[in-house]
Amino acid sequence: MKHEFAGIGMTSARTRGRMVDRLRQQGIRNEEVLAAMGSTPRHIFIDEALAHRAYDDVSLPIGLGQTISQPYIVAKMLELAVGAARRDKVLEIGTGCGYQAAVLAQLFKTVYTVERVAQLLDRARVKLRDMRVNNTRLRHGDGFLGIPDAAPFDAIVMAAAPPYVPEALMNQLAIGGKMVFPVGTVNQELRMIERSEEGFTESKLERVRFVPMLPGLA
Ligand code: SAH
Repeated sequence: MKHEFAGIGMTSARTRGRMVDRLRQQGIRNEEVLAAMGSTPRHIFIDEALAHRAYDDVSLPIGLGQTISQPYIVAKMLELAVGAARRDKVLEIGTGCGYQAAVLAQLFKTVYTVERVAQLLDRARVKLRDMRVNNTRLRHGDGFLGIPDAAPFDAIVMAAAPPYVPEALMNQLAIGGKMVFPVGTVNQELRMIERSEEGFTESKLERVRFVPMLPGLA
């Protein structure tokens, strides 16, 4: 069948290899992040009709008005997050289709991920189970609140942009931890907050475009 051939061509390890080459050209240097992205089948998380574009450097719709981030921005955020002093626990805000959680699962011992849209979370749960990813803990909840009972986290990565820096999340960051997140409404920027014994240090990175982080459950 024509469709199947197209599927094989666009979703193979070679296609992923080309994505990794492109990420290197875009300035991603961390070999662990590149290897994790090179081995995670991104197309599995995307609707079949769009799977042929899974490895392009674009964000794609994942249903319910949400999008999966483009490979470059996932790589960039994870490269910053793996700089944390420890890699026991990472918190992801915005599970979406589960792709970034699957990549994080290769970089941290346990991945906690929160999604406000129940339907997306259910789908992500099935995908991650099918892929035998065993170190993710999925939670239906409001990411603005984090997961107090699992805190502190060595890293926190937000896949949706809050209008301001959520203080609850800063407080759930471990000493030596790093929080990587987009912030803003019309104009958004990527930032990183690092926590040390002395307090918090914030750096502003680059202009980005994410879906908004919304309060409450759906
Ligand atoms: N990491 C995801 C990207 C999903 S896009 C992936 O790999 O597919 C961002 C997600 O954040 C959306 O699914 C959206 O529903 C979710 N989101 C928005 N506001 C949220 C909040 N307050 N708490 C938890 N999730 C939220």
